[in-house]
Amino acid sequence: MVFSFNNEDYKVLIERKISTKNIYLRVKEDLNIYVTCNTFTSDKEIINLIKNNEKRIIKMIERRKKAKEKEESFYYLGKKYDLVYLNRPGIVFGEEKVFVNFDFNLDKWYLKMANDIFKEEFDKMYKAFIYDIPYPSLTIRKMKTRWGVCNTRAHRVTLNLELIKKDPIYLDYVIVHELSHLIHPNHSKDFWQCVEDNFPDYKKIRKELKKDE
Ligand SMILES: [Zn+2]
Repeated sequence: MVFSFNNEDYKVLIERKISTKNIYLRVKEDLNIYVTCNTFTSDKEIINLIKNNEKRIIKMIERRKKAKEKEESFYYLGKKYDLVYLNRPGIVFGEEKVFVNFDFNLDKWYLKMANDIFKEEFDKMYKAFIYDIPYPSLTIRKMKTRWGVCNTRAHRVTLNLELIKKDPIYLDYVIVHELSHLIHPNHSKDFWQCVEDNFPDYKKIRKELKKDE
């Protein structure tokens, strides 16, 4: 069953329970319409209920939409956008707004973008790195407390997916930081010298990155 208004369709999901005496109508965060009713409630009764409550349902949908728009901003490569939910598939970029579907999986999309962008930056910084190191493997994932991790034994660099939200200059610094760990596994003076040799402006960038951790 589908409820349509303003050229948009909203799914009506029906849950029948023996223990439910009345009919309940709700619009949840996913913008689907949920009807909870008794096992013996007929489809016709439900259709009538929806017809009779059209205005109320539209109000509930609009309230849900507004709440969603308010709560979320969208950050991508250092730029902040307002996130606007539409009932159509995919993602569309405007000047200051990004339009996505209600059930759009942001993290999945971020990861898809990061797989290309991080790899490209990683290769760029690796090529520019003035010390000779074997090419490490690269992993990208969401982390809570660190921007990057270097596993010297596995010769692997892990970058925090959250870096996709920031200006790529921070990504470049984190890459240089982790590549430098392949030479100096600690945070010794030599380590910071190595970072500086490859990223002269690192102090400023490091400070800014720490500030919003
Ligand atoms: Zn470190």
